[in-house]
Order: sequence, then structure tokens, then C-alpha cells
Amino acid sequence: MSDTDLEEVREAIARTGHQLAAHNLVLGTAGNISARIGDLVAVTATGVTLADATARDVTVVDLSGNQHSGRLRPTSELEIHLGVYRSSDARAVVHAHSPGAVSLSLIAEELPVVHYQQLLLGGALPIVPFAPFGTEELASATLTALQHKKAAILAHHGSVAVGASLDAALDNVLLLEWLCRIYLDAAPIARPAPLTDTQLQAVIEVAIRTGYGSTPAIDS
Ligand SMILES: [Zn+2]
Repeated sequence: MSDTDLEEVREAIARTGHQLAAHNLVLGTAGNISARIGDLVAVTATGVTLADATARDVTVVDLSGNQHSGRLRPTSELEIHLGVYRSSDARAVVHAHSPGAVSLSLIAEELPVVHYQQLLLGGALPIVPFAPFGTEELASATLTALQHKKAAILAHHGSVAVGASLDAALDNVLLLEWLCRIYLDAAPIARPAPLTDTQLQAVIEVAIRTGYGSTPAIDS
């Protein structure tokens, strides 16, 4: 891993932070972002304001969390990031305090499949019960919810999305927020009716035939 590669990843993480803030998914020092490069993880430091983050605000650790370079302490949610990399082939993780995801967590226990594009995130998404930020309890429950999924909703807290790249993880957190908004728009009128298993199966068949997006297995 060359220093130039690491520097490019740190800059890409800072740019992703600016985009998260531009989409109003983080406020102040909320949220954190990481990317895996080989056996190292570049991750935003604790207390960073993502809206104006720079490469200097991104620190580098190994998969056990030992500091590799940089002097800043990594985000308090480091265990969520490292847990994703230890247990999946994801290359990037984005954690936001997305208002739609938080609102949904106040009124529902899961996000049912409200739109066929939700299959890109792995289908219905259970809501991770509340636990204080930075705790092992929160990391463990979040990692369980992320099994076979590309995103998770954390009750009274926000969202986490993973992806094969920083852009993919950002797209996934934005897709999740859009889906939460759809649910929230419909919920005051009537109980939102999710797509049926038969309808989802039909979508998967078309997706496979046409090569649309990726088609993670539906396991819930
Ligand atoms: Zn948070």
C-alpha cells in the first residue's frame, strides 16, 4: 500500500463527507466514513465535522483497530466499521444521522419493501434497537442487522450503509433515506403496503434476465 494510494483514499473519504452533509444526512460532528484498502482501514477521526473534512481528518488503522498512521483518534463507532470489513467483502462504510431513517425508527419496527429498488439493499430492513453510540452492544446489533443487507436503520440514531466503494456506500445510504421518506409520506394516510413475495420474485427474475443492478438474496 503506497502512501499515495492512502492519501487518495483519505481525500475520497473527505469528499464523501462533504456529499453526506450536502444531502443533509449529517449535522455538525455527526456521522463517520471509512474505506478498506488491503488490510488497512482509512476512517474519519472522532469529532470531525464532515461538511468541511479534509484528508487530514482521516486516520488509518489495521483490522484490529491498531493505529497505522495519523495521530487522530478514530471515530467512536470504529467497531461497526471494522466488524463490517472482518465479516464481509465490503470496501466502504458510511454512517449518517439521516432524519428520515430516524423518523421511521420512531414509528416502525422494520422498513418493509416499499419499492423494488429496495432489493439493492437486500430487501426488508429490520430496525436495530437503541443502544448508546460507540458501544459494543450497538456495534454487535448493527452487524447482525447488516448480514445479507447493504444498509441498516439504527433506532433513535441514524443509518449505516456498506458498499463495494465509497460511491456505492454513499448511494446506498441515499437510497435508504429515499425509501424511508416514501414510507413516511404514506404512513399518515394508511399503513404502507409492502411488495408481496410474488411481486419481488418477479422483479428478481427480470433483474437477472436484464442484468439490472445487483440482486442480493431476499432472506426476510
Ligand atoms: Zn452516530
